[in-house]
Amino acid sequence: MNASRPIRTPAELVDTGLAATRDLPGIEAVAERYAIAISPAMAALIDRHDPSDPIARQFVPDPAELNVTPDERADPIGDLAHSPVEGIVHRYPDRVLLKAVHVCPVYCRFCFRREMVGPQGLGTLSPEAMDRAFSYIADHPEVWEVILTGGDPLVLSPRRLGEITARLAAIDHVKIVRFHTRVPVVEPERIDEALISALKASGKTTYVALHANHSRELTPEARAACARLVDAGIAMISQSVLLKGVNDDADTLAALMRAFVETRVKPYYLHHPDLAPGTSHFRLSIEEGRALMASLRGRISGLCQPTYILDIPGGYGKAVIGPDALRADGGSITVSDFKGGEHAYPPSE
Ligand code: SF4
Repeated sequence: MNASRPIRTPAELVDTGLAATRDLPGIEAVAERYAIAISPAMAALIDRHDPSDPIARQFVPDPAELNVTPDERADPIGDLAHSPVEGIVHRYPDRVLLKAVHVCPVYCRFCFRREMVGPQGLGTLSPEAMDRAFSYIADHPEVWEVILTGGDPLVLSPRRLGEITARLAAIDHVKIVRFHTRVPVVEPERIDEALISALKASGKTTYVALHANHSRELTPEARAACARLVDAGIAMISQSVLLKGVNDDADTLAALMRAFVETRVKPYYLHHPDLAPGTSHFRLSIEEGRALMASLRGRISGLCQPTYILDIPGGYGKAVIGPDALRADGGSITVSDFKGGEHAYPPSE
């Protein structure tokens, strides 16, 4: 049975065939702590006969989420340490995050901000907090780029998004407005003319960073939604999380990156999963991640290559974690090719 509206409760998971009655107690225990939402588009994509379905794994609660390991933390990438005013994260000199809303159309079970999003989360910025956030941006001429994230900013109405982009358009030193979202994939019908127009800030360049983790998420409807954005002059890049049981093999990653490129979405970041509470069942080791990235080299076009990224716990920012094609040893340099062959540079003869 498919849902016609988002699935939000353990009972609805059972009613729609996404969970068995015997799983209810475990799922209810998770639901007391973390929000649940599965959009109709994602619910329809889940294969009820596949116990390892990679779409289900991203959205259907798992009692394993109650196992919190000692290295996990509520604010894994250290947003709070870099938040000068409510709603702003200013970690790098030339850009800020503006977290206007902490609501999402789906709740990902591996979310790095799972302690902040959802009905029990940080909510939506009040008008007064929004004023303070815009004042902060206006008072910091080094801010070249504003990244709307959250939560998912595209859950806001076109009217409210339009207010935000109009206020950013009025700040001269802001040149780039970037939205981080899952909406084109999970609720593609929301990407209509009014919303697209609201994303554009007059005189600025708009980027949309699309979060998707498996090629099946790029349905014909999702691809059409992306085409509407790109045809309207909005540049698109991708963000994915490397997740055990979802995309942790070279064929799946290659298919995902190709699907992005076919959709005119440039692969940007492949994130190593963050140390969010109750997500250890999604994590693989960095060495496993580097080996997967190495296997993508040569296998898929350079256009399809994402950058493998670790957000250093504690708020120290992102680090590119490989794999490295180059090894420096004393005065000599060795470069490895895409088949693993090693070559001195410059060549000795
Ligand atoms: S859409 Fe983003 S912020 Fe929302 S639950 Fe998923 S990963 Fe977290």
